[in-house]
Amino acid sequence: MPRRYVIALIKHETNTFSPLATPLSSFGHGNGPAFGDAARARFTGTNTPMGAYLDLAMHEGAEIATPVAAEAWPSNKASRASFEELVRPLEDAVRAGCDAAFLDLHGAMVIEDCDDAEGEIVRRLRRIAPELPIAVTLDYHTNLSGDLVDNATVITGYKTYPHVDMYDVGRLCGEILIRKLNREIEPVMAWGWKPLLASVMRHAPKDGPSGDILRYAREMEGSGKVLAATLLPSFPHADTPYTGVSAIVVGDAKRGGGEAAAREVCERMLDIAWQRRAEYAFVAAPLAESVAAAKQLGDAPQDGPVLLIDHCDNCGSGGAQDVMAVVAEILRQELDDVAIAPIRDPAAVAQMIAAGVGNRVALDLGGKTDMPSIGVKGEPLSISGRVLAITNGEFTITGPMYTGIRTFLGRTAVLGVDNAGKASAPRVEIVITERGHEPMDLGIFTHCGIDPRQKRFIMLKSRIHYRAGFGGLASHVVECAGVGVTNADLSVYRYQKLRRPIYPLDPL
Ligand SMILES: [Zn+2]
Repeated sequence: MPRRYVIALIKHETNTFSPLATPLSSFGHGNGPAFGDAARARFTGTNTPMGAYLDLAMHEGAEIATPVAAEAWPSNKASRASFEELVRPLEDAVRAGCDAAFLDLHGAMVIEDCDDAEGEIVRRLRRIAPELPIAVTLDYHTNLSGDLVDNATVITGYKTYPHVDMYDVGRLCGEILIRKLNREIEPVMAWGWKPLLASVMRHAPKDGPSGDILRYAREMEGSGKVLAATLLPSFPHADTPYTGVSAIVVGDAKRGGGEAAAREVCERMLDIAWQRRAEYAFVAAPLAESVAAAKQLGDAPQDGPVLLIDHCDNCGSGGAQDVMAVVAEILRQELDDVAIAPIRDPAAVAQMIAAGVGNRVALDLGGKTDMPSIGVKGEPLSISGRVLAITNGEFTITGPMYTGIRTFLGRTAVLGVDNAGKASAPRVEIVITERGHEPMDLGIFTHCGIDPRQKRFIMLKSRIHYRAGFGGLASHVVECAGVGVTNADLSVYRYQKLRRPIYPLDPL
């Protein structure tokens, strides 16, 4: 008899300071959630944990149920009703009977009446099937709860940022659970949490202490002391009691030191993070200085474009993606030969489509979104230029992050700025979209006819994920602190649910 596996994906990184709502339709990266066979079709062959789970199950010849696959770009809390639409099909699939559940979750999902959505999902499945083996993969930006750990059998998380190892992490998690089903191993987990709020701009392995911690984690996995060791640097833009750096380690009760080894490795990982906590703080330079520095770099002969990273308004962390502060400074300092992506502004796109390709438009671009959580009102930028291209905003990701995923930007238009009618106007091209999207793949430009490799400057509304597609082609990277709800300076947020004291907001 083949085993029956339930494989599902429910993911949202909730920025509780974000001005963006999270309707059910925003799942599926704006294309709506997928259920049943459509969920399986959407993720088969993709670089995701769900893609890995499906491969493992198919390889074994298991019977597969895929009740739901739903991921939305970061934004504020989803409603209870939306959450139920996603979770109930998963509960029904487990209730119908299965040998194991393989879940591709985020770890920082908050809904209107629950600060720990992943904990609730797994707890509800556990209630239906008390003995069910449950595998869970988590994003690097997880705020881990005891409820989630207590109700899962195996938990592993990404070790990369940008997250290019999603498939590998899913495979590791799935293989551990299948080995348990085969009675080869008996997974036991140890976890811990530190009162440490690490700035996302310092999370990447190549930037801060995470690199050394992850090296140690891989060594411990490689030595066989533990089965999986995961660092979770947290998502500090979710105001919850679970927010903070944590780690979770899976040991084997049958060999390799069992739970004691898992506990030892977990504590060592968190000790490094805590001892080096000051390195997790990010200090930004003033915007005008950053743009001036980028201009100087770009004016010298370059081996590739200079990247300007507008990190305070990042769609991939809950930003409005329409804040114009960095664009305005680029135009003010007259940087030449710039490609910018993406500005989310459906009204501007409609205006450009009405004007048509080749025609001139005057726009009040962006700035349509107020951000009451940080006391900022949206400020559009008056700008004029020519419509260079109009697309349906669809492309398939070919870069290393989310490889194979079909992407839907909504209708998309490119503005060629010839601002203020200057005789020698700087050449600036802006990709404007109806929907938010993290610019981690070159497709954001190439699908509308722009070759980013040929530009002197590229401005991206991103924090770290841009490195997946753009890191390799940049001659220099300049981080530009604009305005927005993904500000790396965590003192701008009014936290209410965070456990206090916590470093660096409190002296610890
Ligand atoms: Zn993440």
